[in-house]
This record gives sequence, structure tokens and C-alpha cells, in this order.
Amino acid sequence: MSLLTILHHPDPRLRQKAQPVTVFDAALQTLIDDMFETMYDAPGVGLAATQVGLALRLAVMDCSEDKDKPQPMVIINPEILDPDDRVEMEEGCLSVPGIADKVQRYNRLTLRAFDRNGQPFELAAEGLLAQAIQHEIDHLDGKLYIDYLSALKRERITKKLAKARRA
Ligand code: ZN
Repeated sequence: MSLLTILHHPDPRLRQKAQPVTVFDAALQTLIDDMFETMYDAPGVGLAATQVGLALRLAVMDCSEDKDKPQPMVIINPEILDPDDRVEMEEGCLSVPGIADKVQRYNRLTLRAFDRNGQPFELAAEGLLAQAIQHEIDHLDGKLYIDYLSALKRERITKKLAKARRA
């Protein structure tokens, strides 16, 4: 396994719209393992393929509260059904390091996706897991959570991170 490089905002590759995964082969399994290793190393609760420069509709997540009991989860070609109960949640992102802010998310939803072997599944999610699913699907659509903040806040964050990249 190997660690992948996580792209940071304002890298334009984070704005790509990802394409559906159609082949569930050995190369995909290696990519998924590398994405898990990269996410746990960061550490973070989710990592989308677009964050490592691959425009594929794939993300890995682990929203377990107890780090001794990991709950690795792979979502491929994910869709959200029946989103409900909009609430304000604190959010951060590995591609927007060192920054967190509050955004509106649905507290409950049903996820429809494929697992790493190409098997379809549905899952009822709420709280942190529901939030992470929305966050990761946004990545696959080329969106970042900072897009929901005011233009002024977003501009401040972009300037700060652009400066950090040059340093
Ligand atoms: Zn993110």
C-alpha cells in the first residue's frame, strides 16, 4: 500500500466532476486500499477520489467514534434518497486544512451505492455518517463545503491556503 497526495484548495482538480466507476478490478481494489491508508494517516473520516486527483465516483469513509473499532466503508457511484431534517453542522475537509466552519446538512438520508466488489446496497444514515456522505458526494460533483459559506469567508480561506501553497 502507499500514501497518496491529498490535493488542497484551490487546486483546480478538486473542481472536476467525477465519472461513474464501471470496472471493479484489481487496480480499483489497490486504489481503495491506498485511499484508506491515506485517510487514516491524515487522519480524516472521509476521502473522495477527486481529492487524490482521480475523477472517479468513489469515496472511502470511517465515522466510527472508537478508533479501536474501525468501520471502513466504501461508497461507489453513490446517490442520496429521501434527505430529511436540515441542521447546522461543524465541518472540515482534508483539502481545506486547518479550517472548520458551520454548514447546513441533512441529518437523515438513505444512501444507495455500490460496494468495492460492485454489489449494490442501501443504508439509512444519520448524524455524522449522513454528513460525511453529503460531504463526499459534493467532492465527486466538484464541490467543497466552503462553497456554502459567504463569499467573503471563502475568499479569506482561499487567500490563506493559496499563500500556504506558495510557502
Ligand atoms: Zn472533504
